[in-house]
Amino acid sequence: ERCSLQGAIRDFVADFRAGQNEEVDLRLSLPEEPIEVDLDRLFFARILTNLVENAIKHGKTLTFVEILVRYDQENGLVDMVVADDGAGIPEPARDRIFQRFYRVDVGHSRMTGGTGLGLSIVRHAMFAHGGNVRVEARIPKGTQFICVFPVASNVEER
Ligand code: ATP
Ligand code: MG
Repeated sequence: ERCSLQGAIRDFVADFRAGQNEEVDLRLSLPEEPIEVDLDRLFFARILTNLVENAIKHGKTLTFVEILVRYDQENGLVDMVVADDGAGIPEPARDRIFQRFYRVDVGHSRMTGGTGLGLSIVRHAMFAHGGNVRVEARIPKGTQFICVFPVASNVEER
């Protein structure tokens, strides 16, 4: 479905807040101008659900979660960044977290539940969109996941 990325994010946030998640400080930083992308709505919801829930579940000391959009016009790509200011992911683990069943801190992870599948699903869903996802440390603290989507072209599809 072709839609504005910002609109899809706002829809997600409305659903997310309608759940029992009002206490989370979920911030948005979205450019005014709509950026058109081709989204599978079900996959898209799973991407954001997984990333936002991960931040809340694993971020430990976090005070906010931010969803930010930035447009790379030159390359026809748009980044959707999900950032938190939580505990972060140690550098050696960052390569491995997209693997199925991999979890960084097994003791803590057992408490929080889950299977370690979330990020492998996120990566799969980003590939299905012709995009990609990577993780970086956030400065000064926390984690950011950068989901890169191709911007829908104006050329009619046939
Ligand atoms: P599931 O998603 O299946 O419920 P999970 O959340 O443990 O389980 P993933 O979503 O694949 O599995 O995440 C893998 C691991 O990456 C987590 O167990 C956690 O150690 C780490 N991680 C993911 N996101 C964050 C984050 N925002 N901050 C800190 N650690 C994170
Ligand atoms: Mg998860």
